[in-house]
Amino acid sequence: MMPAGLKMVAVTDANWDEYCEYQGYGHEVMDRSNDYMIEKVRKDMANYVTGPDGFSVQAFARYGNDPSTVYAAETLEELADIMGYEGAAKEGFLAEIKHWNEMCGAGYDSDWGADASMMHFKIEKAPFFGASAVTGGNPSGGLCQHAAVCTDGEYRVLDAAKAPIPGLYAVGNCCGQRYGIQYHTPTAGNSCGTAFTTGYLAAEYLKADLEGGSGSAGEGGQDERTTNGIYYAGTYKSSQNSGYSTVNVEMIFSEDAITDCKITSSGNEDLMSEELRSSMAAAIVEGQSADVDAVTSRTLAFSVKAVQDAVADYIAQATPQ
Ligand SMILES: Cc1cc2nc3c(=O)[nH]c(=O)nc-3n(C[C@H](O)[C@H](O)[C@H](O)COP(=O)(O)OP(=O)(O)OC[C@H]3O[C@@H](n4cnc5c(N)ncnc54)[C@H](O)[C@@H]3O)c2cc1C
Repeated sequence: MMPAGLKMVAVTDANWDEYCEYQGYGHEVMDRSNDYMIEKVRKDMANYVTGPDGFSVQAFARYGNDPSTVYAAETLEELADIMGYEGAAKEGFLAEIKHWNEMCGAGYDSDWGADASMMHFKIEKAPFFGASAVTGGNPSGGLCQHAAVCTDGEYRVLDAAKAPIPGLYAVGNCCGQRYGIQYHTPTAGNSCGTAFTTGYLAAEYLKADLEGGSGSAGEGGQDERTTNGIYYAGTYKSSQNSGYSTVNVEMIFSEDAITDCKITSSGNEDLMSEELRSSMAAAIVEGQSADVDAVTSRTLAFSVKAVQDAVADYIAQATPQ
């Protein structure tokens, strides 16, 4: 949860209009589906005024008569002063922008793992713009929670190692990662819809787990969960989101070993080659472990991590507690 009363400053530069193309549709953001609104914002931004008084931009369709104040400056140092930063805070503000630009140069967000398509928007071309808000002490700033606990596809809550916690489910607003970019309310009723759907599905999985033992729902596992070895034998398959795409991993366990692994599809956007997928799958069987070093570039790290997470999840599911 964000502490209350802290200043948040959003910064952009002369290329703000291009960046907006990548903005998700959502609550209280500029309505890009509305030409009139975009033209209005462009006009206001073109008439920007530098200095501490700021200038008005009517960016929100919903609150069209209630413009936001945006501040402009010809240098980032001046913008820091206008936004009220001094001393170490000013240094931190400038260092953070420099760090962001460096990550854009590398094409990789080492801080938060932002989608690589967002990592070429350096803040470097004057005029620079800033707008500020104050944190309200809630997790997302809006009506709905986005940052709740993570679950797998059967709504089982995951622990820090992304292994499901037996018997614990989360749905609706308790279920994290419900939205890709933000709370995209232009799809009407999606939050209530998500609550209904996840609740319904979790109940189905829960019912199957109660009838067949934990982990027997869905495609993974067996109906009879007994073993004389180290694993419950069976086929385990499901999908993991890498942040770029969905990777599908299928594994077969005997009672004593991982006998097969297939990384069956990694989606159109994934950068994992067919060769890397099959060599990684072979290494998982050979090493009998998720801990396979298959990272050949930093971009691939997300896909490889998704496969490793899936394998670790299956090993946890196949191993008697
Ligand atoms: C003002 C407002 C407008 C909205 N407009 C829309 C809209 O137009 N479209 C849309 O899709 N979504 C909208 N939403 C969001 C949507 O209502 C929520 O996302 C949705 O209701 C969440 O459902 P949920 O079942 O996850 O949680 P909730 O509906 O919050 O249900 C949680 C339940 O758990 C109960 N509870 C809490 N603690 C305990 C406890 N310890 N023991 C037992 N019970 C407990 C609560 O009393 C509550 O009944 C809006 C939300 C608000 C606040």
